[in-house]
Amino acid sequence: MTFADLRQKLKSGEVSSKELVQEKINRIKELDPILNSFLTLNSDRALSNAEYIDKQIASGDSLPTLSGIPLAIKDNLCTKGIKTTCASKILGDFVPPYESTVTKKLLKAGAIMIGKTNMDEFAMGSSTETSAFGPTLNPWNISKVPGGSSGGSAASVAAELCFGSLGSDTGGSIRQPASFCGVVGMKPTYGRVSRWGLIAFASSLDQVGPFANNVSDAAEILQVISGKDDFDSTTVDIPVPNYLENLSKSIKGMKIGLIDTCFQHEGLDSDVKDSVLGSASLLETLGAEIMNVSCPRFNDGIATYYVIAPSEASANLARYDGVKYGFRADDEQTLIEMTSKSRALGFGSEVKRRILIGTYALSAGYVDAYYKKAQQVRTLIRRDFDEAFKKVDVLLAPTAPTTAFGSGENIDNPMAMYLSDLLTIPANLAGLPAISLPCGFDKSGLPIGLQLIGNVFEEAKLLQVANQFEQAAEVYKNRPKTDFTL
Ligand code: GLN
Repeated sequence: MTFADLRQKLKSGEVSSKELVQEKINRIKELDPILNSFLTLNSDRALSNAEYIDKQIASGDSLPTLSGIPLAIKDNLCTKGIKTTCASKILGDFVPPYESTVTKKLLKAGAIMIGKTNMDEFAMGSSTETSAFGPTLNPWNISKVPGGSSGGSAASVAAELCFGSLGSDTGGSIRQPASFCGVVGMKPTYGRVSRWGLIAFASSLDQVGPFANNVSDAAEILQVISGKDDFDSTTVDIPVPNYLENLSKSIKGMKIGLIDTCFQHEGLDSDVKDSVLGSASLLETLGAEIMNVSCPRFNDGIATYYVIAPSEASANLARYDGVKYGFRADDEQTLIEMTSKSRALGFGSEVKRRILIGTYALSAGYVDAYYKKAQQVRTLIRRDFDEAFKKVDVLLAPTAPTTAFGSGENIDNPMAMYLSDLLTIPANLAGLPAISLPCGFDKSGLPIGLQLIGNVFEEAKLLQVANQFEQAAEVYKNRPKTDFTL
């Protein structure tokens, strides 16, 4: 069911928003003790907001697009009066006094916020296992991770605990979990969507974006959250196009580039490779012209990212000092001891690792060798993309080198964990929009994600190609049986 179907049913009175919300709450109560995709439920407020929407529907008012539809929000987006923990002990009791711009926009569009979703602590991770509140499991196979860091936002959509959600993507945290959980996930262009009220990880990379069951729902959420925000000076003041307008237009004549380096990687799973190349052939039958494109610096993305992101994180996370808000170790005598112990006890080990790496990379004597060098390589990566987009409209690659890996499999091996973002990170470094959508299944029945990357502010084109693919591929029809009964 798409949002358009839901709107129809709500309007005709076939279902009420309150019923939709109640059904999701029941389902969460039944399934989430296993999945752990939510950290906080907003049941009472969600039900009363739904009742309010139902009254408006009954009175025949014309309502905004997402009216009455229950959505979930990643727990690094501030929600006024509702706990926002970033899945960290250090923010374990934090109740923001203000609402993030994106959630404010969703509420204004009538959406019902059903709860806050689990994630890797401070969005650092690729498996939702670094959460201080326990891992989220993959609804397709509960012995597998849902991906990360927005694993709760992806798993909750996949398990039909909500109709869509918001996540954040700094190096792949929307697209990789979307791929692992068999849903659509999109990272917009840097500057397209406000980050006001998003708890900062790496400010030159972070973007907020949607998860949904299908491309048109993702387009609808993106439509609502996009645009200039006076509270976020990095948002760009260019008009937001209508993202739904071109969805059903043919992609005949469109040029799609296969990024060759992505397919040569030795860690690329053969099922993933075959499925993504098969998807390219399907796009060809829809009239697109497929060509190979070279982005020689693509594989340098990961090394570059793991200097830049920790550097920015080390600066952003300096604010958790036990003084202003968050966890405080209050049995210490001096300010330094108090701050030091608050951070030692409040942060988990992955966050500490990033702070140490970042502080080191930014320290006098090393800043030129590491941080500055990484910024230079970042420019080269962006130039590769600029060259590619002179030849093609959209780039195509797998979202992740593998399907969902096993719980605990990579948690003690940070390098293996970091490699799972190999194919998503370059779009963040270059600030480009990118989408992941289901394109098939591997031998064990786990979903595979196809990634499309667009030029800056060309979300509409990405969504058009993605939607045409989705309509033609009908991947959902081949959903294999999973070992988690949904
Ligand atoms: N997995 C990557 C990391 O650990 C990306 C995280 C993200 O996009 N928030 O940094």
